[in-house]
Amino acid sequence: MTENQAIVLLIEDERQMRRFLRVALESEKYGVLEAETAADGLSQVATRNPDVVLLDLGLPDLDGLEVIEKLREWSAVPVIVISAREKEGDKIKALDRGADDYLTKPFGAGELLARIRVALRHASPKNQDQGEAVFVAADLRIDFLKRQVFCGTRKIHLTPIEYRLLTVLVKNAGKVMTHRHIIREVWGPLYVEQTHYVRVFMNQLRKKIETDSTRPRFLLNEPGIGYRFKE
Ligand code: CA
Repeated sequence: MTENQAIVLLIEDERQMRRFLRVALESEKYGVLEAETAADGLSQVATRNPDVVLLDLGLPDLDGLEVIEKLREWSAVPVIVISAREKEGDKIKALDRGADDYLTKPFGAGELLARIRVALRHASPKNQDQGEAVFVAADLRIDFLKRQVFCGTRKIHLTPIEYRLLTVLVKNAGKVMTHRHIIREVWGPLYVEQTHYVRVFMNQLRKKIETDSTRPRFLLNEPGIGYRFKE
């Protein structure tokens, strides 16, 4: 086996874009499948079982958002949306409907490959069931069993909501989380419209765990979308 045997399915109608993606992926020894339409893409997910799907939202036969919805009825394959910036609202909807991440066109090959590695890591069965007892990123350490957080040797006192907010982001480290998704996980589905909660508690959390809360190292803004925990 070579180092990367993972198969990536491209669902993208633009030939130039598919070519760019294929070159980037093959340089890292990924296997590449291509579909020009949503219908072909969905059928290839079912028949060829890719490890990651890169999905364009503007497809000729079906909207990418509907592709995600259909896929999520029967597949947990990681989906990374690739879309143009002016469709920011679509990106939020895509994430809310079960996409794992998004990339804004144009993007570099390095960024694409990094996001794919994150998606694969989250999808690997190893990480799915057990979950680590301790999380470490730079000087930040979280002990999930004792529910304790440390910066270096200093113990950080978090409220239950702050702790939940931090753990939701950390368990999805590297992935963008929408405001609604965070709200649903931390406060529950009845609060999904209260996105200002996230902002308020995020500020508090940054003051407690970031060295400089105005220039966060871990808790990054994804403008207009949500937040991402950077490892
Ligand atoms: Ca397109």
